[in-house]
Amino acid sequence: MSVLDSTIICSACELTISTSRTWGMFKYRLRIGKTLPIKRTLGWCHSCENFTAVEDFSDRSSIHQRISELETFLANTLDIDLSKVRQGFESLDLKTHEQRRNNAWELDNLKNRIPFFEKRESPPRCLMCASIYIVHLRFDPPTEGQGSVRLGFVNPTCGGSLFIETTSRRINMSLDNIFYDREGRRMK
Ligand SMILES: [Zn+2]
Ligand SMILES: [Zn+2]
Repeated sequence: MSVLDSTIICSACELTISTSRTWGMFKYRLRIGKTLPIKRTLGWCHSCENFTAVEDFSDRSSIHQRISELETFLANTLDIDLSKVRQGFESLDLKTHEQRRNNAWELDNLKNRIPFFEKRESPPRCLMCASIYIVHLRFDPPTEGQGSVRLGFVNPTCGGSLFIETTSRRINMSLDNIFYDREGRRMK
């Protein structure tokens, strides 16, 4: 699977970080046969002294609201019967069809995230070294051809300002699973 890459650059030094370091199949293994995708973002880890993939709990307070939004969408749109489309009895609204599939997937994950949050004890961690001394970088995913966007985060190593820009490069995403326990520690 290949995805458009974006890069974080610094105004004061040669730093370039590809956001692809947050990509991959990061999952919690909650119990045997039960996994949950890890919501993550790019952050600064004080222990790694680097930008790494870090757990993202920013959806915690809004989770019930998002669930009801998704449920409303699914209740108000029609499931498309693909066999009827093939036979010519129904037309295919591909956009709605795809949105329903994505929303159903997100809804399923969010419903599993509620018991996850109830049992989780430690704050979000760095997914490389498990440190809790992290700072989340917040930004909207840039769109193609947008130019560079200031992140509002000072690079701790040099004091420079950080910018994010989309490159035209596509990067192949690893589809290997990387498993973590419920507390965000990598499992061997
Ligand atoms: Zn710098
Ligand atoms: Zn770290």
